[in-house]
Amino acid sequence: MRLSPFTGEVHTSMPKRTGRRWREHTVPRVLRRDNGICHLCGRPGADTADHLIPWSISHDDSLSNLRAAHAYPCNQVRGDRSVMWARAEIAKRMGLTAKSTVGWDW
Ligand SMILES: [Zn+2]
Repeated sequence: MRLSPFTGEVHTSMPKRTGRRWREHTVPRVLRRDNGICHLCGRPGADTADHLIPWSISHDDSLSNLRAAHAYPCNQVRGDRSVMWARAEIAKRMGLTAKSTVGWDW
């Protein structure tokens, strides 16, 4: 359970950024710039944009605050935690499942 410092709102999941402008303009530009490489796991096939400084804190949708990422699992695992934390967590999960599963079905 995390509290936003600005609104006091309880975040139980990542902020939803599903506006039309976001989907049609911002995300494609970020994916193209980063060649579809997810900045959290380093794999290709990213399908959304992730905020370096969480949107819930920065409210910053500029391209300098965005990196390509997989909506699932990478962006979902991260939530609004730090990039460093997310990379470590994703690497750990990838290591744990590397022998038993292929791809992202964890
Ligand atoms: Zn990823």
